Amino acid sequence: MIAPRLEIDLEKIHFNARTLVKRLAPKGISVTAVMKATLGSPEIANAFLMAGVKTLGDARIENITRMRQGGVTAPMALIRSPMCSQVARVVKYTEFSFNTELDVIRLLSDAAQKAKRVHGIVLMVELGDLREGILPNALNHTVQEILRLPNVAIKGIGTNLACRSGVVPDAANMAALSAVTNSIESTFGFPLDIVSGGNSANLHWALSGADTGRVNNLRLGESILLGCDPLHRKPIAGLHTDAITLVAEVIESKVKPSQPWGTIAQNAFGIPAAPKTVGHIQQAILAIGRQDIDPAGLEAPHDIEILEASSDHLVVKTKRFTQPVGSEIPFQLNYSALLRSMTSPFISKIWKKRATALQPSLPLLKKASPLAQLSGK
Ligand SMILES: *Cc1c(COP(=O)(O)O)cnc(C)c1O
Repeated sequence: MIAPRLEIDLEKIHFNARTLVKRLAPKGISVTAVMKATLGSPEIANAFLMAGVKTLGDARIENITRMRQGGVTAPMALIRSPMCSQVARVVKYTEFSFNTELDVIRLLSDAAQKAKRVHGIVLMVELGDLREGILPNALNHTVQEILRLPNVAIKGIGTNLACRSGVVPDAANMAALSAVTNSIESTFGFPLDIVSGGNSANLHWALSGADTGRVNNLRLGESILLGCDPLHRKPIAGLHTDAITLVAEVIESKVKPSQPWGTIAQNAFGIPAAPKTVGHIQQAILAIGRQDIDPAGLEAPHDIEILEASSDHLVVKTKRFTQPVGSEIPFQLNYSALLRSMTSPFISKIWKKRATALQPSLPLLKKASPLAQLSGK
């Protein structure tokens, strides 16, 4: 079979999405599935939508375009602040975008006017992680300025934590988001339909029984795809953690000394880890490398140890048996390895189950999803 490849089990991904949609529904929280780690795969998008996901989000307009061209019609959001150079495409392919800069929002309004559309704006608020977001004390001014623009409409508010600085979503910062929401509504007299509390790192808070306040949406990527809680990189109970497997092929298999010889300087990617063992080992080389994966994000089967990776070679130690040339080794991936392997044109993507075989889900949300209302635009 073709190698290297990602084996993607759509049924397991569907199950994970469905499980999280069901767990969050009683809290009135809808799910936006974040597609960036899938490169905007229409197959995975359809599996998510059939699981009850209401909107799709991606940081890159190219991925959104790919889903549109793949026939996906669900409401989509650009969840990274648009580049000025991309506003026309953002208006064309998405219903709304996440924004923090007035200059960009003005350009979005101009582009929407040309396209005879109204583009939705979700304002991102900075609550401590120090990535994107308007500082809370600047929000009123920003809203005031947006209200002057003819072809954009403020649809909601959001925040993002745990990405740059690892700030944990908790009762305090989530209450701050609810407070900001209430304050904007009472100052300006219009409702904020979307209150998007964060990403997979918010699940622990959202499902802990805490008061979720005004938060009615989460944007989930890693937790659905990998069944993993990004705060501590622990499996989420009841979810599949093996929906996506990377398979690579052995191209050399030999008994070799574990210690290199000669004068040692840096290797191709910096300072090599000093070999832990002495004596001889069973060494195998797989035809995959840093161009395709993040070696630190691979989890090998228990009797195989990853030693080093260069651009095109992954060197492993096989502990119990010889791994013959031509044989294959499966790996589990973390988010970083998944992102890179999905993006690599050298890794084939094999679907283990077509999304069309999956059953559509029944409506689940208690509160009507405000995001669904955007789909008519
Ligand atoms: C990537 C991203 C997400 C999804 O994060 P996960 O940890 O994969 O759930 C959500 N929101 C924003 C703004 C993002 O960039």
